[in-house]
Amino acid sequence: MRILDFSLSPQEAADPGLWQQVLRRAAQTAETPCARILRESIDARSRQGVRILRTVAVFAPDEQDPAAGQEPFRYQDVHAGRPVVVVGSGPAGLFASLRLIEHGLRPVILERGKEVGERKKDIATLSRGLGLNAESNYCFGWGGAGTFSDGKLFTRSSKRGDTGRILARFHFHGADEKILYQAHPHIGSDKLPDIVRHMYATITGCGGEVIFGAKVTDLRIADGKIQGVFTEKTGWITTDTVVWATGHSAHDTYDMLHRKGLALACKPFAMGVRVEHPQDLIDEIQYHRDPGMAWLPAATYALTAQAGGRGVYSFCMCPGGFMVAAASSPEGQVVNGMSSSRRHTPYANAGIITEVREEDLKDFAAEGPLAGLRYQQAVEHLAMLNGGGGQTAPAARLTDFVAGRLSGSLPENSYMPGLIPSPLHFWLPEEVSVRLREGFREFDRKMHGFLTREAVVVGVESRSSSPVRILREADSLQHVQVSGLYPCGEGAGYAGGITSSAMDGVNVADRIAAI
Ligand SMILES: Cc1cc2nc3c(=O)[nH]c(=O)nc-3n(C[C@H](O)[C@H](O)[C@H](O)COP(=O)(O)OP(=O)(O)OC[C@H]3O[C@@H](n4cnc5c(N)ncnc54)[C@H](O)[C@@H]3O)c2cc1C
Repeated sequence: MRILDFSLSPQEAADPGLWQQVLRRAAQTAETPCARILRESIDARSRQGVRILRTVAVFAPDEQDPAAGQEPFRYQDVHAGRPVVVVGSGPAGLFASLRLIEHGLRPVILERGKEVGERKKDIATLSRGLGLNAESNYCFGWGGAGTFSDGKLFTRSSKRGDTGRILARFHFHGADEKILYQAHPHIGSDKLPDIVRHMYATITGCGGEVIFGAKVTDLRIADGKIQGVFTEKTGWITTDTVVWATGHSAHDTYDMLHRKGLALACKPFAMGVRVEHPQDLIDEIQYHRDPGMAWLPAATYALTAQAGGRGVYSFCMCPGGFMVAAASSPEGQVVNGMSSSRRHTPYANAGIITEVREEDLKDFAAEGPLAGLRYQQAVEHLAMLNGGGGQTAPAARLTDFVAGRLSGSLPENSYMPGLIPSPLHFWLPEEVSVRLREGFREFDRKMHGFLTREAVVVGVESRSSSPVRILREADSLQHVQVSGLYPCGEGAGYAGGITSSAMDGVNVADRIAAI
């Protein structure tokens, strides 16, 4: 086997016939050699124009790929295994459950929302502007916020575990194998629902249990140990081990934990807006009108700036995507973004956010560890009022937002429930609004053409990270006061995004199995 590096034109990378020619030339054989791509990235800064960098394992004619035919995971029969209650079926709860099964333990998943098909109907109703179901939406239901997410799987937190194994589990459950080698793997919101359905089949097929419409509203704790969880649907369930993977949108659940006196802490989080540009404009800026543009995927960007001593940065950029109403309560307005696997809409959106720290939370200091949560709720409520009271969202042309003006009209956009012109610069918290506006000016210096009246900013992008941490011990991963209770994933404040939440789930399952 030889490892070869290729620098390809966009057309050579995209056209299977041309790629096979390149491989035959490199291997100096008449037959196309057996090859496996190990890594692929786009280099848009090369002097030769845009290049696709591909690292490939090329096998000799008599050689077999050692990875071919291997069974990567052993999901065993756990009907008789020790039960572990998992609260929440987002990436953290799902990957914890899959890993528990590998260890021979039996997950019992309590999920407040619905299965994927029913959830789809509620999301369609929401997108048509016909109302939000507070228990079934972009945040709640099978697969959690991950199911109808964009499905970008890139993470910087690879030190916490083997991200390759997370990607392999997605691939095992139906994701395209490209995610195994692309520098910025992406599944797409059209593919994720089937993948999480396959995970459901693995879990229940092995003997795990899933109960929908089961919101945990109380915990029984005695002598510093978890004893049981309560849902209206099931009554009390007795257990000594609970994975608490409820995500950061379950505000009522944080309230319940706080009422019960569990140790929580306020943590820095981020707040901002979503900005949407025409995708053609982003392609032109990023690919410099490269002749191979037609062969390239919709372009992305990642921008950072310093404003008032804090970072302003782009987050969750969705090329060829659309904006969605991602609130989980009718009291608030939240916007997020996603794209299908083909990333083919004419729009490019991204969250543009800035950090909110404890010193910004003075008005909410009396709320203790929930101060950040109350700040977040207050801004989401303001966005809802300024957006017309439902899921229509407040918006401004980017140039008007930066100049501090109300927009007289808005550009064409992808947000289905509809946008309403609103002076976001005025009602967003000053520390957020001022920094974002300065950040946008800096972005335009870095990416000329970014600041355009054809772009729209939409409020508010408030759920990029958790404002609360559920305190746990660093080694055992159990709650600092309650043994057997394992706060896990984004809502616990120890992860952000699909991959790191999934990895946290795996780590928690490993700790549970080790006891
Ligand atoms: C539109 C959108 C696009 C996104 N795009 C990306 C992306 O491209 N890449 C990325 O990395 N991240 C993305 N995210 C964020 C990502 O989805 C989250 O970071 C991730 O889902 C967090 O995983 P989690 O398991 O910790 O929590 P969640 O996914 O929030 O899951 C929590 C689960 O717990 C359930 N639950 C809550 N309270 C209770 C209770 N009391 N009882 C029972 N069940 C309960 C909820 O119904 C939910 O199913 C996106 C999010 C959205 C909304």
